Amino acid sequence: MVGCGLWLANCCVRRRIIVLLGQRTIHLQINAEHRLDQVMWRPSAHCDLRPRGLQPELIVVHCVSLPEGEYGTDAPQRLFTGELDCAEHPSFADLAGLKVAPHLMIDRNGQIEQFVSFDKRAWHAGISNWRGRNSCNDFSIGVELEGSVKEDYTVDQYRTLIQLVIMLMGAYPQISADAVVGHCDIAPVRKTDPGPRFDWSWVVTQVHQNIGALL
Ligand SMILES: [Zn+2]
Repeated sequence: MVGCGLWLANCCVRRRIIVLLGQRTIHLQINAEHRLDQVMWRPSAHCDLRPRGLQPELIVVHCVSLPEGEYGTDAPQRLFTGELDCAEHPSFADLAGLKVAPHLMIDRNGQIEQFVSFDKRAWHAGISNWRGRNSCNDFSIGVELEGSVKEDYTVDQYRTLIQLVIMLMGAYPQISADAVVGHCDIAPVRKTDPGPRFDWSWVVTQVHQNIGALL
């Protein structure tokens, strides 16, 4: 695994991938610290080391809004960084003491913020199972979409997410083209996000059409 890690650090994570999606060109690049260049970095302590040197193999899509259905409040981000005052709103009461964070969050405008570097284990999935393997945090990257299971996501969010997935697959080759799932898929008894209004067919089609950018 050491050799693989060095290879990632020296070569793949610096690779720049530009993908054309519709009329918008987005530039995303991972640096040697396993973080996206040019996105807001809001470091969270809600993470630890990945066990046994595991690399990312899975992307887990979530949704969040606090209060639910209200956007642009910055409350989810403050929850992830441990700065949310749970007395701020009655619906926040059950969040007290909760230590969670994704690696990334994509807001309604498609802007990305990063909380945990990809080489670390972010605490986003909880009790979970993917293809017979428990503890998906160990080997996954968590992406929160600002949203609700009751509402459509924005075009900007899809464009950013699709490009992000393609870029992550290039940087971490252990992530296969079919290794993008919802939280609902790995914790079906507990979780419903990103919900029935999330357009999986759009994401899957675009990822497969653009994956040639990695070659
Ligand atoms: Zn979730």
